[in-house]
Amino acid sequence: MPRQREVSTERLRERVEEMSGEKLFACYQCGMCSAACPLTEEMDRLPSQVIRALQLGDPTVIESNAMWVCASCFACEVRCPKGVDLAKLMEALRQIRLRRSLDWISLDELPRERIRELPQIALVASLRKKAG
Ligand code: SF4
Ligand code: SF4
Repeated sequence: MPRQREVSTERLRERVEEMSGEKLFACYQCGMCSAACPLTEEMDRLPSQVIRALQLGDPTVIESNAMWVCASCFACEVRCPKGVDLAKLMEALRQIRLRRSLDWISLDELPRERIRELPQIALVASLRKKAG
């Protein structure tokens, strides 16, 4: 995994709100988003934990894999009583990483055998999402 650059707490909160258009403190931690998300088994933090970390200004949230696993399916937004769009928050977090040249995957690190097995469209879509 690429080396992390330190992210200031306040700046991270501001940037995420600015880029997503969402209000972090609208969330009151009911957990409905995590209950609705079909991909939590693959995430190291639940969607509700991602937003809580952002509220607290925890810079380690930028290292989470949740934003890369998120498929922007909007199941969380549909269930959220506060209308928080977590897909937009996840996208903002991805963009923050990519703009710091912190890719999630590097082609150089993928074994050739693994690349050969992947459908081309999966590779292209994944690279668009996960690499700067
Ligand atoms: S469903 Fe909405 S209010 Fe509840 S924890 Fe998730 S983001 Fe927060
Ligand atoms: S948009 Fe992302 S976080 Fe929300 S339910 Fe879908 S996969 Fe989970």
